[in-house]
Amino acid sequence: MQDKRKFYINGQWVDPVKANDLEVIDPSNEEPVAVISLGGQADTDAAVAAAKAAFPAWSATPPAERLAYIEKILEVYEKRAKDMAAAITDEMGAPQDMSLDDQTGAGSYHIKNFITAFKDFQFVKPLGDHAPSSMIAWEPVGVVGLITPWNWPMNQVTLKVIPALLAGDTCVLKPSEIAPLSSMVFAEIVDEAGLPPGVFNLVNGDGTGVGNQLTTHPDVAMISFTGSTRAGIAISKAAADTLKKVVLELGGKGANLVFADADDQAVIRGATHCFYNSGQSCNAPTRMLVERSVYDRAVEAAAKVANDTAVATAHQPGPHIGPVVSKQQWDKIQGLIQQGIDEGARLVAGGTGLPEGVNRGYYVRPTVFADVSNDMTVAQQEIFGPVLSIIPFDTEEEAIRIANDTPYGLTNYVQTQDGQRRNRLARQLQAGMVEMNGVSRGAGSAFGGVKMSGRAREGGLSGLEEFMDSKAISGWD
Ligand code: NAD
Repeated sequence: MQDKRKFYINGQWVDPVKANDLEVIDPSNEEPVAVISLGGQADTDAAVAAAKAAFPAWSATPPAERLAYIEKILEVYEKRAKDMAAAITDEMGAPQDMSLDDQTGAGSYHIKNFITAFKDFQFVKPLGDHAPSSMIAWEPVGVVGLITPWNWPMNQVTLKVIPALLAGDTCVLKPSEIAPLSSMVFAEIVDEAGLPPGVFNLVNGDGTGVGNQLTTHPDVAMISFTGSTRAGIAISKAAADTLKKVVLELGGKGANLVFADADDQAVIRGATHCFYNSGQSCNAPTRMLVERSVYDRAVEAAAKVANDTAVATAHQPGPHIGPVVSKQQWDKIQGLIQQGIDEGARLVAGGTGLPEGVNRGYYVRPTVFADVSNDMTVAQQEIFGPVLSIIPFDTEEEAIRIANDTPYGLTNYVQTQDGQRRNRLARQLQAGMVEMNGVSRGAGSAFGGVKMSGRAREGGLSGLEEFMDSKAISGWD
C-alpha cells in the first residue's frame, strides 16, 4: 500500500500537523491502495498562508512567463501520462485504456486549450476610441480554493488550476478524499515544472474539514467548486460571511430528445454515453425521451446496448466499463434501481445486484427502465450510475416540457434531422449546453449549467475570465 500522507505546501511535501489517516480503496477489488492524511485547520492555514505570500510576485509575473510555466506543466504532464492513468484507475475505477485516453487525455486537452485561449487574451481592452478614454482591465482575484470531485479527476483539476495560474492567482487544491491520488501526481508534475513555491498547494481532506476551512477562510478570495448540488449549496452558505466569489459546477439530469427522424445510431449513441464512465458523469444523458412512433424500437436498441456492455475490473485493457467509485455509491445506486422497480418503471435490462460471476468490487449492471414517467424518482434524481430511463412523448412541446421539468439544467441532447426543429429546441431547452446529433461542444465553448446545476462556466475564454475580476477604468487622457 502506498504511503501518501503528505501535503504539498510552499513547494515542499510536508507532514500533516496532526495525523488523521484515511485509506483509499480500489473499487475494482475493494482493497486499500494507499493511505492519505485528512488535513485540519492548521494545514489549511499553512497552505493559504503560502499561497498568500506567493501572490504578489506571481500576479506581477509577466503573462508570457506564466504561460511558459504552463507549457512546462503540459510537457511534464504528458511525460507522466501513464502514472496519472494508473492513479486514476486505482482510485476511482476507470478502465485502464479509458483512464489513459479519456481521463488523463482530458487534462492535456484542457491545458492545451487554455494555452491557446491565453495567447489571444487581452488583459486590457480599450472600449471605443473616443475621449474620455475608457477601458476594462482583467485582474487576478487573489488566493483561490479549488475543490474537486472524484468522477473525472484530471478533467476538473486542470479546468481549475490552469486558468487560475494563468490569470495570476495562487491556489490551494483540495481534491476529493475518495480519489486524491491523481491530484498528488499532478502536484509532483507542478513541482517538476519548477513553479515558484506557494503558487500551487495541495491539502487533502474531507468536505467538512479542509473543504469548509477553505470556504470560510478570510484570506481565500474565491472558491471554485465542482461536485454535488448538496455540497454546492452548503458552500454558497458558508462562503457568504466572507462574500467570496463562488463558482459552482453541480449535478445534472440530462435529457436526450430522440425524434422519429433521428439517425440510425442515435439511440445506441445515447445509451452508450449514459453508461460511459459507469454512468458517473454530470452531463450523462440519463433520461432518453423518445417519440412514440419509434419508441418500441428504441427501448429494444437501448436494452441491447446495456446487455452488450461488458463490466469488468479496471485493471485490464478493453472497451468495458469498470466499477462505480465506492460502496456508498454502489448502495445508493442499488436503492434507486429498486425504487424504479417499486414505482412501476419497466425494467428491460440490468437490475439490482452484482453482475453474474462477480462477487467482489463495486460493479453495477447497466440498467434500462422503459415506460418511465418524469415524476418517478429515477427520472428526477441524479443516480450517478449506469442507469437509463426511457420516457415516451407525442409532440415537440411535450418533449420540451418533460426535458425542462427537472431542478437541473446542465446538458441536453437533441437527435433529429430537422434543422428548424433543432434551432427551436436549442433555444427552448433550459440548460447550459445543448448538443445535437452526437456533436460535442467545441474547444472554445464553456462548460456549465443553469438552475440547480450551478452558475459558472469552465473551459475556454469564459473559464479563464472566471478566475479574474474586471476593472472599469475611465478618464481624460
Ligand atoms: P461531493 O459534493 O460529495 O464532493 C465534491 C467535493 O466537495 C469533494 O472534494 C468533497 O470533499 C467536497 N465537499 C463536500 N462537502 C463539502 C462542503 N460542505 N464544503 C466544502 N467542500 C465539500 O461530490 P462527489 O460525490 O465527489 O461528485 C459527484 C457530484 O459531482 C455529482 O453530483 C456530479 O454531478 C457532480 N459533478 C458536476 C460536474 C459539473 O461540471 N457540473 C462535473 C463532475 C461532477
